[in-house]
Amino acid sequence: MSDWKPIIGLEIHAELLTASKMFSACPVVDSVEAAPNTAVDPVSLGLPGTLPVINQQALEFAMKVGLALHCDIPPLNQFARKSYFYPDLPKGYQISQYDRPLCKNGYLDIEVTSEKGEAYSKRIRIRRAHLEEDTGKLTHVNGASLVDYNRAGVPLLEIVTEPDINSAEEAEAFGRKLRAILQYLGVNNGDMSKGVLRMEPNISVMHRDDAEFRERTEVKNLNSIRNVYRAIKAETERQIKLWQTGEGVKRATLGWDEGKQKLVIQRYKESADEYRYFPEPDLPIVEVSREWVESVRATLPELPDAKRSRFEEALGLSHYDAMVLCLDKPVADYYEAVLAAGAKPKPAANWIITALFSLMNSAGVERDQIGSTQVSPAHFAALVTLVDGGTLNKGTATDVLNKMWESGTDPNQIVAAEGLVQVSDSSAIEGVVNEVLAANEAVVQRYLNGEEKVFGALVGQCMKALKGKGNPAIVNELLKQAIERQGK
Ligand code: ADP
Ligand code: MG
Repeated sequence: MSDWKPIIGLEIHAELLTASKMFSACPVVDSVEAAPNTAVDPVSLGLPGTLPVINQQALEFAMKVGLALHCDIPPLNQFARKSYFYPDLPKGYQISQYDRPLCKNGYLDIEVTSEKGEAYSKRIRIRRAHLEEDTGKLTHVNGASLVDYNRAGVPLLEIVTEPDINSAEEAEAFGRKLRAILQYLGVNNGDMSKGVLRMEPNISVMHRDDAEFRERTEVKNLNSIRNVYRAIKAETERQIKLWQTGEGVKRATLGWDEGKQKLVIQRYKESADEYRYFPEPDLPIVEVSREWVESVRATLPELPDAKRSRFEEALGLSHYDAMVLCLDKPVADYYEAVLAAGAKPKPAANWIITALFSLMNSAGVERDQIGSTQVSPAHFAALVTLVDGGTLNKGTATDVLNKMWESGTDPNQIVAAEGLVQVSDSSAIEGVVNEVLAANEAVVQRYLNGEEKVFGALVGQCMKALKGKGNPAIVNELLKQAIERQGK
């Protein structure tokens, strides 16, 4: 394996969240939820005699992405016809961009944790990002094919990287960071399961003695970043075997079978696709003045890297905590709402990353669905403050959070109704300590004989007697003092 390394370039398609389609005023609808063919018009159906008009909002959304990815925005860009026949493409050609894309020559810096657990950062070059229109959708049922044109003509941004990605881990880090940027910019919601964001890896492998790239394949239909990762792992292994056995890799398009968790070969490519690109005669060349670029740049929001630095520098979070909170915009929004409700930054970050994420994981709630749980930011802030102020110990607070998760109740109400306030009163704790010591003389003797690990068992007895509500620091301290007194 170590003689071989993966070479990966990603092609990303992102539908843009505009109100209307790329080349007409036809509304854009959720193409999974909406009834088929309810958002169509003569332009998106490609009826003869119709003419396209460029959607300015789509140009500006695409420009925002280009600027966030440090791309050049050339002064001129141009649409082009990409001709091919498929039933989901009513005109017989797709309006795309070819030799004059809207954005080119950018980069994205990613932070990666390798398979071996080493952390490093890396720059992935962006070759280009261009605008096009999405196609319709085919559904195959009982030997028939149904076509829905709601998606036909939806503005689509295609982003193409250089083949700078060298592992599934790097591809995953790139995918997550790019998705975060699209969400932060508000141009795409990042929902890969609905296909509004799609990531297609081009994969080859390189032997350490190679001077040039080898033949590559392309994987389509990946509906999550996790599957991008899995597909790259599987395809890298498959290709290395094919080279080792002498069979060799043939140019192919593959898909991912979610049920079987394996790759399927969809078709081999004998020759390069011939799309007969030519400039779209129905649309003008788009001139992009420097003033226009600067006015769009001025609308860029705080992006993930900037937010992460601010969380580190202004709030004192660790690099890792800040990164985890910023990787999904809904998580960063949730965290900031918790702070706005009065919680202290560090404990709030801690409780989200450990306790809340663990509840979400067990329930199968994705990170970007954090806003849909029953635990509101205000209630979460109240919980953090109850711990921080000494009213609850950590163990009880975890129980309270579980109840908040189930019922959406205010933690203050749970604490009041169940009498969960932490016991910090020294004389109450002292009484319990003395009872526990009297009832466990043999254990105490073992501790005094040097068996320090039994101390934890004595703490446990005290906590049990205090119904889990004892202040751990005070219990520890008073227990230690009492035992030392006995030892003298
Ligand atoms: P095409 O024009 O056929 O679509 P490109 O050369 O434009 O091919 O590349 C498409 C994608 O494939 C890019 O993301 C690029 O980085 C990637 N790519 C190109 N060559 C290789 C290779 N040998 N192995 C893996 N990825 C590659
Ligand atoms: Mg393409």
